[in-house]
Order: sequence, then C-alpha cells, then structure tokens
Amino acid sequence: MPHKLLKTIPAVDEILGYKAVLTLMEKSPRDLVKKIIQDVLDGLRKEILNESIDILPDKAILELMIKSCLEQRLKPSLKRVINATGVVVHTNLGRSLMAKQVMDHIAGVSVSYSNLEFDLDIGERGSRHSHVEKIICEITGAKAAMVVNNNAAAVLLVLNTLSKDKEAIVSRGELVEIGGSFRIPEVMKWSGAILCEVGSTNRTHSHDYEDAINENTAIIMKVHQSNFEITGFTKSVIASDLIPIARKHNLFVFEDLGSGNFIKFSDYGLKTEPTVQETLAQGADVITFSGDKLLGGPQAGIIIGTKEIIDRCKANQIARALRIDKMTLAGLEATLSIYRDLQKAVKEIPTLKMITMPESIIKKRAIKLCDKLSMIAADKADFTAEATIGRVGGGALPTQELKSRAIKIAPKKMSASDLESALRGSSPPIIARIEEEKIILDLRTIQPDEEEEILQIITKILL
Ligand SMILES: *Cc1c(COP(=O)(O)O)cnc(C)c1O
Repeated sequence: MPHKLLKTIPAVDEILGYKAVLTLMEKSPRDLVKKIIQDVLDGLRKEILNESIDILPDKAILELMIKSCLEQRLKPSLKRVINATGVVVHTNLGRSLMAKQVMDHIAGVSVSYSNLEFDLDIGERGSRHSHVEKIICEITGAKAAMVVNNNAAAVLLVLNTLSKDKEAIVSRGELVEIGGSFRIPEVMKWSGAILCEVGSTNRTHSHDYEDAINENTAIIMKVHQSNFEITGFTKSVIASDLIPIARKHNLFVFEDLGSGNFIKFSDYGLKTEPTVQETLAQGADVITFSGDKLLGGPQAGIIIGTKEIIDRCKANQIARALRIDKMTLAGLEATLSIYRDLQKAVKEIPTLKMITMPESIIKKRAIKLCDKLSMIAADKADFTAEATIGRVGGGALPTQELKSRAIKIAPKKMSASDLESALRGSSPPIIARIEEEKIILDLRTIQPDEEEEILQIITKILL
C-alpha cells in the first residue's frame, strides 16, 4: 500500500512548474526552492513509509507546504527574544543589551572604513587597542590596558604570557567552573601554565602560598568565585596580603575578576561586589574581566595592569588569535564613555538600569499589565501580579536576590507547560519559567516597550 502511494508523489521538475512555485522563484534562487521541494517530498515519503499518512496532500496544500518551508528557511536563526526570566545577565539569552548610543557608534564604524589600525595624527599604522586603552585607564586608574575577544581569552593570554611552563599558584577554593564548562584548571592547561594548588576548598592561608613558592613559580593567581559562595568556616587571602609575598619572591599577582564592575552596588541597596578600581588599588599586577557581564557592554575581555605586563601580552603571538573585532571595539568604546559619569551609567546602561530598578516601579508595571490581561482574557486564565525573586546572573553577585514582581498566569484550558512552549514559539519568543503550574513573567527583564507585545501574544495564544 505505501509503495503505491510513493509512486504517485509528483516529480520535483513537475512541481517546479507549479504557478505558486514559479512565484516563489521570482524572489528566491531556483536552487534553494528546488532544495526545499526535495525536503518537503522527503518528509512526505517518510510519513508514507511509517504510515502516518495514507493520502497525498493535494496540489494547493503542497504549494502551501513549500511556501511555509521556504519562509522558515529564510528567517534568521539568531533573533530577538523577550527575557521574562528575571535573570538580568542571562548568558543563554545574550548577556547584556546595548544602549542606543552604543549601537549608533557600532553602526557608524561598521558601514564605513575606520581608523581601526591607522594613526590619523601621524598617518601610519596604529594599534586597535589605542581606541579604548586611555579610557579604561582613566576609569580604573590602571597604567595600561588591552582588550581581547572575551574574558576566557584574557585569562588564557595572561597565563600564557606570564606563566608558560612555569607554576601558577591558585587556592583550591578558587578552581572554579563557570557556565559553558569553562574551568580554570583546563584553561591553565591550554595556556601552558602549570597549576599549583594550595590550601583546601574552604580555607587558604598566606603561608599556604608562601610554602608553595619554588624556583619555577611565576605568578600567584586569584580567581573570583563567580557563581558560588562558600560560607561558614572559610578563609581566603585578599590580594593586598599576597603582594608582599609576591614582591619578596619576584612574582606577579594576577586576579581574574570574572564579571568586573565599575559601580559600587552597595550604593544601590545590593550586596558588595568589589569594583575593578578597588581591586586594582589592592595592588594586583594584572587583572582581567568581562565586557558583557556587569559592565553591560559587548562581549570582550579586558586586561589591565602594569605597562610591562600589558606590553608583553600585546606582543604575544596568541593575542592575534584572540583579538577583538572592530564592531565590538566600537561597542566597548561607546559603553566605556558612558561610565565617565557613573550616575549616568546606572541610568543608561540597560544591564545596570535593570539591576538597580526599584521594586516599586516594577510593581506598578506588573499591576498595569496584569489588569490589561485580566480584562481581555480572564475567562482563559487567572492573572495575578505577585512578588518574585530575580537574579543578576553572569556569575556575579550569585546570592543576591533581586526583589521583583511577576505576572503569574494559571491557564484554565491548557497546561502551564503547553503555554510555556507556545510562548517560546511565538514571534518574538517569550522566555518564561514555570512555578507550581503557573507561568512566571518577571517584569524586571522585560523592557517597557515589550509589554504591549506580550499582551498581544498572550491573548492570541489563549483565545
Ligand atoms: C565569566 C567568567 C570568565 C569568562 O568570561 P567570558 O567573558 O565569559 O569569557 C572567566 N572567569 C570568571 C571568574 C568568570 O566569572
């Protein structure tokens, strides 16, 4: 039976002559349309063979299938989503949003030629690092700086430059794994540095470092614990206490700050997270941090330190493979320039704005949106505006709870998990979580201009 049906499938060439298909080929290349037709027919063959269909779709349906398959294929894979998770620096959802003025600068230098590596004053080859080095030093107080692709690259470069085939001493409590299976011991291995672990998971003392030093030691490394905290019976050694030990033995102190921030979060009612400025003032010779975590800029790895170390990093051949792209550089420069005024940064950098947004404002927005949803779709679901807890994300301030407000939706005619997947499949997709059979939409990470869209998408799904 299936074999008879298989024989009645029209030939690709015949379908290529259908009127609707000819129309498709006016806008899309013939080879692509042909490939789509083959894919659609392959799908049909499979369905016939596993007997999930016993009749062929008619010509009109087949045309529609080809058209929608083509439309699907032409859509970009990378697209905007609405983040309703309440996790501000959400690595899976692209970490930080760029401010409008940042995008303008990126666009400006991307659609034209630029002085990326050209010194306009002397008319000769320049350095791409020059565009941000001054401002990074200005904000942090560092003597020199350079930027690479991301912080993982920054760590790799510093370790390779200072500690290749030599020992780097790290506390056992700091051998962290962050998201995406980035593990400090693995990165050290690839950099050529030899890991020398000291202390125990919860306690490391100054003498642990001092005892481990030998003639092959190059650096003492400190790593921000990123996404976890050890509490209870703990002891770690701050960089300022390591400086005298390092000086005595002619070693460098390298601190991987992870997120890195220029703003004192304690000024905004949040937990204390050491700033880059404070960390540098403690005396580390070189510090690395991300551009797109708490800093709120594009993906980048920033290295600050003494001129000698930064010059050595710049001269390292590996730097070429880790180098930052011009669009990123433009985004970073524009983001950094907002930090010249820290008050302004908190208001204009989306990541900071969301993290410091007062609960009272979020509450008002939640109640308003909840009322609108109830007015339109009260018979399809229960909507309530309730307290919820968001997170900073990105491995920063891991135990900081961000008191927030969410719309909680308890659908009456479908399951919460069906609603969650419908939201995820909408255009744009809305990424939400489920708690106790209810959908949670945390307003902290939803942009105000997305509220109307959410209203329309939800009513469309529920109706
Ligand atoms: C996030 C993080 C990194 C990696 O930074 P990316 O910019 O994601 O490459 C490295 N070290 C620590 C401690 C981190 O938190």
